[in-house]
Amino acid sequence: MSDIFGRLKSGAGKVAFETEKMARVNRIQGEIGNIKRQMDSHYMRLGDLTYRSFVNNEPQSPEVPDICQSITSLSQQTAAKQEEIKRVNAEQFAAPPSTPAPTPAPQAAPSPQQGAKFCANCGKQNQGGVKFCPECGAKLD
Ligand SMILES: [Zn+2]
Repeated sequence: MSDIFGRLKSGAGKVAFETEKMARVNRIQGEIGNIKRQMDSHYMRLGDLTYRSFVNNEPQSPEVPDICQSITSLSQQTAAKQEEIKRVNAEQFAAPPSTPAPTPAPQAAPSPQQGAKFCANCGKQNQGGVKFCPECGAKLD
C-alpha cells in the first residue's frame, strides 16, 4: 500500500517537475521576446537614420555605431537565454522530491542601481551602461 502511494507521489512529483520546467522555459522565452522587441526598435531606428542620411545626402549619424553595439549585445543576451532554455530542457526528474520546487531566480531588484538612468522620453528606469531605453528605444545620456 505504501509502495503504491510512493509511486503515485513520485508520479505527481514528476508532473510537477515537468510543469515547473515548462514554466521556466516559457518565462525565458518571454524574456527573449522582450529582447527581440528591443532589437526591432533598434533596427527601425537604424533604418530610419540610414534612410534619412541617404535621402538628405548627409553623412551617417553618429548614433549608428551605438545602435549597432546595442543590437550586438542584445543578440548575445538572446543566445545566452537560448542556452539557458537548453539547460532547463536537459534537466531530468530525479527521485521523489521531498523539497518544494526550486524558486525561480530572483528578478533584478527594481530599486535604484549603480549608474541607473531614467529615460527622458518614457520615464522608465534603466540599468547603468545601457545607451538606449529598452522600453522605447530613446537614447539615454
Ligand atoms: Zn524610454
